[in-house]
Amino acid sequence: MISPGLHAVLDAVSATGLIISSAAASPRLAVRGPLGAIGAGIAVYSLGTQYGDRPHAARPIRMHEHRLLYAAQGAACLALARKVKDPWAQALLRGYGAFSLAAAALSSPPGPAGVEVPMGAVAADRQLGPDLAYLRCGIVNVVFLGAAGAPDRRWLLVDAGLAGSAGAIRAAARARFGASRPAAILLTHGHFDHVGVLELLAREWDAPVYAHPNEHPYLTGQRSYPPAAPEVGGGTMAELSWLFPRKPIDVSDRLRSLPADGSLPGTDQWRWIATPGHSPGHVSLWNDSARALVAGDAVVTTQQESVLAALFPQGKLQGPPAEFTLDWKAAGASVRRLAALAPEVLVTSHGPALHGAALSGALQELASGFVSRGLPNCSRYLRDTPWLLGTNLKHWSGGPPPLFSKSAVAVHFRCCTSRGTPTYPAPDRQQ
Ligand SMILES: [Zn+2]
Ligand SMILES: [Zn+2]
Repeated sequence: MISPGLHAVLDAVSATGLIISSAAASPRLAVRGPLGAIGAGIAVYSLGTQYGDRPHAARPIRMHEHRLLYAAQGAACLALARKVKDPWAQALLRGYGAFSLAAAALSSPPGPAGVEVPMGAVAADRQLGPDLAYLRCGIVNVVFLGAAGAPDRRWLLVDAGLAGSAGAIRAAARARFGASRPAAILLTHGHFDHVGVLELLAREWDAPVYAHPNEHPYLTGQRSYPPAAPEVGGGTMAELSWLFPRKPIDVSDRLRSLPADGSLPGTDQWRWIATPGHSPGHVSLWNDSARALVAGDAVVTTQQESVLAALFPQGKLQGPPAEFTLDWKAAGASVRRLAALAPEVLVTSHGPALHGAALSGALQELASGFVSRGLPNCSRYLRDTPWLLGTNLKHWSGGPPPLFSKSAVAVHFRCCTSRGTPTYPAPDRQQ
C-alpha cells in the first residue's frame, strides 16, 4: 500500500525521470514529445496536490482526484504504446502505463490514527484467565467464556468466525471443554466475519444464539447491512470492503434476545454491555471481578482497514473497523463507555489481546481523543454526524473515493466535495 508521502516521492521521481529521458532521447524518437509532456503534466498536478490531510489553499487537487489523474495518465500511456512502432519506446510507455495504473490503485490515504501500545501490553498467551481464552481464525478472533473443563452448557462461544473455520473452532472447544456443549453462542454483532459458521455450530451443539434485538434484522433474513464505506482509507481491506458480503443470514429458529438485565446464560461472571455504533446492536462483554473485557469490534487492536495488518496484527489500539462503521457518534460514546470500565484484560475481534496498566491508559487516550485518533478522514457515514465534522476540518477536506467502487462518483459528490467550513457546535457541547 502506497502512503501519500511515498506517492509524493514517486511523483517527483517520475516527473524528473520523464523530463530528463525526453531531453536526453534522440530527436528521432517519436515519443520524445509526449514523454516530456507527461513528465511536465505530473510536475504541474503534483505541485497542486494536497498530499496531507489538511486543506491547503494553494493545493486544490486532493488525493482521490490525483489518483484519478494518475489512472488517466496510465491509460493514455498504454493507448499511446499501441500507436508507436519503436520497440524501446513501446516498452517504456507500456511499463510506465502499468506503473501509473498500479500506483493509482494501490495508493491509499492513512486510516484512523489509533493509539500505539507498548510491546509489553500485548498478551503472548491466548489463555487470559481462568474463564477467558480466544482463538484466532484468519482475520478474526472467536472467544471462549468459561473455565477449562466446564460441564455441559456452562460455557459460551462468542462469535462464529469466517466461513470455513468450523474445524478450528470445534477443535479448540474440544481441547478446552471436552465433550461439553456451550450454553449458547453469543454474537457481538452479525457482520459476515462473525457469523461464518454460526448456523453449522449452533445446529451441531443444539445451542441458542443470543444477540441484541437491534441486530436481529440481520440475523433473521430481513435486512442487509448498509453499504460499506471503502473511502475511509487505511488500506486494501477498506478499498475492497464493498465486495464483502452484507446480506443477512437467517437463524430465526435459534435466535434469542440478550436478557434485558445484562445477564448471560451459562455464566454468573460475565455481563453484556450495549456498545452500538459499529453496528446498531453491537454488544461487548464484561467480567467485573476479573476486569476483563471482550469488545468485539467496538475497539480493535490492529488496523483492520489494511490487509497486511489484518493478516499480521500488530497490537495497536484502534476504534472500530472504519469501513463497516455506521454511526460514528455512537461509536465514540461506546469507546468512552468501555474506557470508563478501566479493563485490565482486553480481547477484541481483530488483533491480539492486550493487558496490564498500559492498556487502560491507551483506551483512555483513544476515548478522550476519539475525533483525532478513532475517526477516518472520510466516510459517507460521517456526513450524518455533523458535530464531528465541525470539530475537525480534515473530515471535510475529503479522502479518496474507492477507485474500484461503482459508487466512486456518488461518494465523491456526497461525501467529499464541500470545501467550505461547516459551523457546528464543538462535541463537548453536544454530549
Ligand atoms: Zn464488524
Ligand atoms: Zn469484525
